[in-house]
Amino acid sequence: MNMTTPPLQAVLQINLENASRVAEGKYSKLRCVGCNRDEVEAFFSVNDETEQYGIWLECAICKHVEHISCSSRPSGFSPTRLNDRFQKMDERAWIRENQ
Ligand SMILES: [Zn+2]
Repeated sequence: MNMTTPPLQAVLQINLENASRVAEGKYSKLRCVGCNRDEVEAFFSVNDETEQYGIWLECAICKHVEHISCSSRPSGFSPTRLNDRFQKMDERAWIRENQ
């Protein structure tokens, strides 16, 4: 699949909109910055030690993943949306950052 990458400004705008949807408790059918379809699912990760949170937006169609790092508990955070796979990815990211 050869798709045009949207301009950074558009990506930031979509991420912002998705983050505010998540804050309202909407975790699915969000807009994808990769393929522009409304097929993105939102998940969370949390590091209990550093109290850092992650919002993960994964597209069911093109598998594009966006990661938003939060230094405090994000609005709309729900333990039911914690995801093991993203949790592990986030732990690796935290290890890298803290080395
Ligand atoms: Zn997509």
